[in-house]
Amino acid sequence: MLILKNANVIDGAGSPPLSNATVIVNGCRIVDIGVDFDPPIGADIIIDLKGKYILPGFIDAHVHFGGADTFDYPGVGNRHETYDYSSARSEALKWGLTSIRSAGDYTPEIFHFRDEVNEGRHISPRIIAAGRMIQARGGHPLDTVFGSNENIAAGACVLVDEQTDLDAEIKKLVDEGTDWIKAFISEVNKLNYPAPVPRLSTERVAQIVKLAHKYGKPCMIHVDNTRHMREAAEAGADSIEHVFAVGATETEIDDSLIELLIKKQIYIVPTIFSIKAHENPEGNMPLVYEKLIQQVGKLIQSGVKIGVGTDSSIPFVPIGRGIHEELSELVKCGMTPMDAITAATSGNAKLLRKENEIGLVRKDYFADLVVVDGNPASDISQTKNIDLVIMNGRIVTDNI
Ligand SMILES: [Zn+2]
Repeated sequence: MLILKNANVIDGAGSPPLSNATVIVNGCRIVDIGVDFDPPIGADIIIDLKGKYILPGFIDAHVHFGGADTFDYPGVGNRHETYDYSSARSEALKWGLTSIRSAGDYTPEIFHFRDEVNEGRHISPRIIAAGRMIQARGGHPLDTVFGSNENIAAGACVLVDEQTDLDAEIKKLVDEGTDWIKAFISEVNKLNYPAPVPRLSTERVAQIVKLAHKYGKPCMIHVDNTRHMREAAEAGADSIEHVFAVGATETEIDDSLIELLIKKQIYIVPTIFSIKAHENPEGNMPLVYEKLIQQVGKLIQSGVKIGVGTDSSIPFVPIGRGIHEELSELVKCGMTPMDAITAATSGNAKLLRKENEIGLVRKDYFADLVVVDGNPASDISQTKNIDLVIMNGRIVTDNI
């Protein structure tokens, strides 16, 4: 039994901090939370937090757990034996990131690893995985950022052309154990702008979402611009990733699109920090960061559901630290710090269909907890001042 006493608890649901609180963890779960009560006898560890803040562990809704700049490591044939995501999981846990949605990684490795984490065989954030990414043959990301690498094509992509039997491909992913289906609507050629790359047609996108739902899986769609957003929304995507890519020119979210997003309860995962990190004022691509801050502000004000995702570990976007950068960006867009915290905890848990298990400091929830020094509800940068991280009831980071 682990007892954390004299804490301020931010529950992840948006309630004001609960002061003088004690949180009791037994095994992997929170078993009690209360104010001014005597710790039960028989606790193994009692920690006096002296007024520090307890939050739910953070959830990142858009991660490439195997990295993306070194996506082809190691080579085909020995991936599963040698690749255990060790640097990603230690960085994640160091920064209080206790659950991730993999938005594209090698399969079936990511599914095997997820299952092993669930069996308690690794110290790792929990993983919800989308497996191979469905894209147009010749398009993004394989033939733009991944240099047409054959290992990546075989292990991490589904390449769609006129011959592709989408039902068979999606069924295969589902049989392998995917939690989500991920597809791309993308035209921006990041390496040879402005020549566009082939993209999935509107019909194909609609078919993918329909098939995902037929097999009981939610569907996430990468988009480059607001025209793509509308297509993804009309197709019935469950989450839409990025809002705009660097280089996008259609960047105005109009009221009818907002209405559609609200009506269909679609989550937008804007990955703002990753866009900021990739803008190059000296390059030839239109800059979108300032516009993105303004447009995401509009979504927030209108009440569109916002997921918090980073797109780590693409270059310049480190896993773990990235979630704190994204929280700051959302506050720049006009979210209150408390709303940003809620979005990255219980909000993301809902997006990931795990709202009964993670994302809240609440009795019977998994004890995935972060302790920070100052009050992040008044200053969001406090989420970075991490004293303790508890994953599944175990202390995995201790800076006290
Ligand atoms: Zn991504």
